[in-house]
Amino acid sequence: MTSLVNEADPFRAAVHEAVDLLLGHWRALADERLPVTPDLAPGAVAAALPAGPPERGEPLDRILRDTWDTVVPGLVHWQHPAFLAYYPTGNSPASVLAELVTAGLGVQGMMWTTGPAATELEQVVTDWLAKALGLPERFLHTSANGGGVIQDSASSAVLVATVAALHRASRGRWRDHGTEGRYRLYRTEEANSCVPKAARVAGLGASAAVPTLPGTARMDPDALRARIAADRRAGAVPAIVVATAGTTGTCAVDPLADLGRICREEGVWLHVDAAYAGPAALCPEHRWLNDGVEAADSYAVNAHKWMRTGTPCDVMWTADRRALTDAMSITPSYLRNDATETGEVVDYRDWQIPLGRPMRALKLWYVMRAHGLEGLRSAIRHDVRMAELLAGLVARENGFELVTHRLGLVVFRLDTDRRTREAAGRLAGDPGIQLTPATVDGRPALRAAVGSPLLTEAGVHRVWRTIRDHARACA
Ligand SMILES: *Cc1c(COP(=O)(O)O)cnc(C)c1O
Repeated sequence: MTSLVNEADPFRAAVHEAVDLLLGHWRALADERLPVTPDLAPGAVAAALPAGPPERGEPLDRILRDTWDTVVPGLVHWQHPAFLAYYPTGNSPASVLAELVTAGLGVQGMMWTTGPAATELEQVVTDWLAKALGLPERFLHTSANGGGVIQDSASSAVLVATVAALHRASRGRWRDHGTEGRYRLYRTEEANSCVPKAARVAGLGASAAVPTLPGTARMDPDALRARIAADRRAGAVPAIVVATAGTTGTCAVDPLADLGRICREEGVWLHVDAAYAGPAALCPEHRWLNDGVEAADSYAVNAHKWMRTGTPCDVMWTADRRALTDAMSITPSYLRNDATETGEVVDYRDWQIPLGRPMRALKLWYVMRAHGLEGLRSAIRHDVRMAELLAGLVARENGFELVTHRLGLVVFRLDTDRRTREAAGRLAGDPGIQLTPATVDGRPALRAAVGSPLLTEAGVHRVWRTIRDHARACA
């Protein structure tokens, strides 16, 4: 298969076969006929592969077969109902179909001129999603200076926000003079690792963590104010606060309204990282998550976590798109065009770090249309119910302590730290389940993040029996 037009038939047959293989794979996961994690020594998969590519092209069906023989058994199955580690990665037939069509159309949408419909569809679907989540008008493309963009990851959204904040805080000086160690990013210890990473990559150096409110994992607004004042006295320039709505450790939500007030007063950019929890705001009962978001300069959710959308699909909004584009726009002659000159079009290359980009909007469009908001809400409610069920089982069991339970996340520990660690070790050795060990308040805990569309009530009970049996086996 070497050409797009001459050998269409093998492609059609291979796509049919791929769909059958995927349907069979999803069925096997639903029936728990596959383990969650592979039993593999490091290097085993590499050793099973040839040392170099073939000289002559091979048929697609053979490559597909090898995928299922060699690659699939060596994977961790993130869609497995007993996969409870990290955070879920979304998936659905609509998302997979969109990826196929996107790849087939093979468009590179770096500017409006290189894919007008790709750009405009992205503007429309990010507006759709902003409205569905109840986000402020100022994040919409239809507003004066706002708009949404699809990034590859929440990490990219934080980095882009940091760069825009640097631009604003330095009045553009940063572009010519670098950061000269002057600008500051504020976060808590609970912020995702991508936040200190963004500070590092953007040249801000190590970002000191702002303390949390006593007994919580939420940023302390007074401590933030004090930190900003101290930095100003020392000659530094506060640039950005990265708040989290749904931390990775315990799904804690920073006090956005208080932080927003401080950021407004101080002229500091506020980015809200709602990578995991954000989609829950599709449901009115969870919209409190975003209380205070009106003052944010940017906000991001990972549709690819909790919105039945395959990775990558992070949706980021800003109320100050000019800061993004002024910070990042560099226009050599080969990117000049009349449409850009008019200022009437969006060129997404200036909203992200890379120049090129796939047509990202099709996936979000397919997912929102195929599920409808009602379908997406009921998926979230299903997962929240499954997490409630698991949390209830944990809370009622002697020898277990429910540490926190919010949305789809259940964090728990055993009666002693030694037993928690031993149970974590036993669970890590069980290919039928995967959880993530965590540290909460300096003590070991276990995190179970619910979100596989294949998890049923019976599946929760199976997961619970596995956890309980491993716990009982601990001395
Ligand atoms: C998952 C997560 C991230 C990282 O997301 P990527 O898309 O992998 O960069 C960042 N922040 C929070 C709160 C998360 O839940």
